[in-house]
Amino acid sequence: KLDMQRVCEETDAVKREVENRKGDLRAADVGLIISVWKKLQEVQKEISDLETRKNAISAKVRALVDEHDKSTLASLEEYTSAREEGRAIREKLGQLYVQEGELEKEHYCRALRLPNRSHPSVPIGDESQARVVELVGEKREFDFKPKGHLEIGESLDIIRQRRLAHVSGHRSYYLRGAGAGLQFALQNYTMDFLQKRVYSLDPSRFPDLNLAGTGEVGVAGYFMDHAVNFKDLPVRTVCSSTCYRAETDTGREAWGLYRVHHFNKVEMFGVTSNETGEESSQLLDEFVMLQKEIFSSLKLHYRVLDMPTQELGPPAFRKYDIEAWMPGRGSFGEISSASNCTDYQSRRLNILYEGNDGNLKYAHTVNATACAVPRTVIAILETHQTKEGTILVPEVLRHYLGSEVIEKPK
Ligand code: AMP
Repeated sequence: KLDMQRVCEETDAVKREVENRKGDLRAADVGLIISVWKKLQEVQKEISDLETRKNAISAKVRALVDEHDKSTLASLEEYTSAREEGRAIREKLGQLYVQEGELEKEHYCRALRLPNRSHPSVPIGDESQARVVELVGEKREFDFKPKGHLEIGESLDIIRQRRLAHVSGHRSYYLRGAGAGLQFALQNYTMDFLQKRVYSLDPSRFPDLNLAGTGEVGVAGYFMDHAVNFKDLPVRTVCSSTCYRAETDTGREAWGLYRVHHFNKVEMFGVTSNETGEESSQLLDEFVMLQKEIFSSLKLHYRVLDMPTQELGPPAFRKYDIEAWMPGRGSFGEISSASNCTDYQSRRLNILYEGNDGNLKYAHTVNATACAVPRTVIAILETHQTKEGTILVPEVLRHYLGSEVIEKPK
């Protein structure tokens, strides 16, 4: 259920929020959304009034029939006109219900695209306005010219990307040998790391049970049409899933693993209460702390960015991206993202919680990438490459990969 009361009462603020985002919705659409909503309210009011009138008439007709007094002219006339009015009302109601259905459809088509509001500290504008909140580690100094991940991956025969048009076209790739090993090592490491930390259900009730789904959509769907008990909040989950992206922009990042159609990702997803207004912000901070621990343990140099309005997409109230330094590219590249969606998803998916007072309220949801495999592989290959063309495997992955160095297979 959308909060249309706020849209009607704080129209100027909603228009500003729409203008600050990048979507195709514009401030003028807000006026249209409100006018369709008001028309819908009018039709629903008319329906409700007519239903009341219809019930009164039915009661009257029943009473006249019960009295068996249709013999007098007065009551016969009364009976006939009541039946006629009843018929006319039913006909009118039929039309109104059709109109209500059409207006509802139009309303939801438009209003579901309204963005969430943004946290007051979110910078307004496009990507260039992102605020660096933190810079962790230092750029590694090289005594040779660092190579890009594709060149390294091809020479070690762990990434293959040439002549794959026959498989699935542009942006296809194979991870082979230690490359495939790195994918599983990263997934297993981040899953183990997070499960050991916080990601179990109430241990007194479910001693060995951990919650896992398939990506943010799957996990959010798990909570759909559910009321979570207040004492179980915040719920923290982690899942590993395959992600498919259309990536229609063919110009940028056409080569390598930076922007591909199909990749694996470990994702955190959380549900909080909204009693103080701060719970979901706290969970967002907690998720960012965990992301930082993971990227620091992989010995990457990275920065945390408070993303501006045009980069939030409609659901996020606030979003932090982490960008890792990629020496071969000679730039920072986004490796993860963490968003507080407040009640945006829960209103659409009907994710509720039972407050201490027993009332049902909309929960808040938070999601954060723990490890998007291809970009983490890029950062690892480019950061930990050696002059000899081998890769020094970060310590935390050695146990998973079963080796300390990635070398060209003999
Ligand atoms: P998103 O769910 O779009 O916020 O993306 C989460 C993370 O997935 C990003 O920070 C990237 O590390 C990674 N990612 C997103 N799109 C792609 C893509 N097309 N190819 C490779 N990695 C991607």
